Amino acid sequence: EQSSGNSAQHEIAPPGVNPNVPHSARIYDYWLGGKDNFAVDRAVGEAMIQAIPGMRHMAGENRKFVHRAARDLVAKEGIRQFLDVGTGIPTSPNLHEIAQRIAPETRVVYVDNDPIVLVHARALMLSHPDGRSEYISADIRDPRSILENPVLTDTLDLTEPVGLTLIAILMLLADADDPWTTVAELRDAMPSGSCLAITHPTADFNPEAVQQAVAAATGAGMTLVARTREAVARFFGDWELLEPGLVPVSAWRPDTEVENPEAAYYWSGVARKP
Ligand code: SAH
Repeated sequence: EQSSGNSAQHEIAPPGVNPNVPHSARIYDYWLGGKDNFAVDRAVGEAMIQAIPGMRHMAGENRKFVHRAARDLVAKEGIRQFLDVGTGIPTSPNLHEIAQRIAPETRVVYVDNDPIVLVHARALMLSHPDGRSEYISADIRDPRSILENPVLTDTLDLTEPVGLTLIAILMLLADADDPWTTVAELRDAMPSGSCLAITHPTADFNPEAVQQAVAAATGAGMTLVARTREAVARFFGDWELLEPGLVPVSAWRPDTEVENPEAAYYWSGVARKP
């Protein structure tokens, strides 16, 4: 699809969306070549590209991780239901498409707190008739609002293993929000055999560039926190990391040989609940 980010029709915001405040979902959409972004998002997105010229590559590598992780959770771990928090603006293929290609009966509950994501997701992310994909508008900082949401309890069976995917979302939570307790609450609601997949940006591979990018975002009023490998590892609690462990996102079960996996500044891992 042709990108037409500058055309006037795309500057009209749906209800609940402020086109004057930059937003993570739309900046990420901009990096991926989408059209659901506003001038403020493109400005911050470009400032971050100034700091990290490989930013679009990073966003692409993050999406490819989603594809490989979803594939393996279904094909190798037998997961047939997913809870995806911080879904983002639809991009092809989406999580349920990957999963349902392998197991059409897979059920996916998508959660995001950005109205623009929900508008597009409801319109575009249509389930295979044998499975389900549903949407919840909620904030991860209130995990009970997700876990007790009737859409979740109606769609997922929390006595059967769940694939919990927190992909490029936790960096949007400040340390002061204690995202570790938040993630622990979600983990605790999942039965044994469930899997948790996380990607998280880090300054570990290129401190200067990442600090500059973070400064561009925080200077525009956003919360964005790069975290160390140790801080990211704590999100998994006592769940057991599957091979190859907590690694750069391009190095997690790559489909083709990767020359420099540290060129995409994300930690990534998948762990299973004992
Ligand atoms: N997981 C997708 C999109 C990442 S962009 C991917 O990796 O491809 C981050 C998403 O998290 C955005 O859609 C944003 O709206 C959402 N998000 C940010 N803060 C959130 C919060 N507190 N609760 C729920 N969703 C949030």
